Amino acid sequence: MRVTGDDWARLGDAAGRAAHFISQRAYMKMTDSHCAALELRRTADGAPEYFCTLYDRRPQVCRDLARGSPQCEGELAAKHDRVPE
Ligand code: SF4
Repeated sequence: MRVTGDDWARLGDAAGRAAHFISQRAYMKMTDSHCAALELRRTADGAPEYFCTLYDRRPQVCRDLARGSPQCEGELAAKHDRVPE
């Protein structure tokens, strides 16, 4: 996921560990085929819960594609084949 200059500034002191440059462009780092800022936690009853550790500072694209929104669902449908197994 692209990280713009504004995103980098918003990430603040987390930018260096959450994002990196590939050539001239910055992207969020990936861990196990997902954004490195995403953390899997367990609720008290053991159910999985996905948690963005940078939610307040997340990139603009994450803000524009709110989880479960029609825009997010459209992206999922259009890019489903790109997700690695
Ligand atoms: S919302 Fe958070 S975890 Fe999800 S892609 Fe954006 S920065 Fe990564």
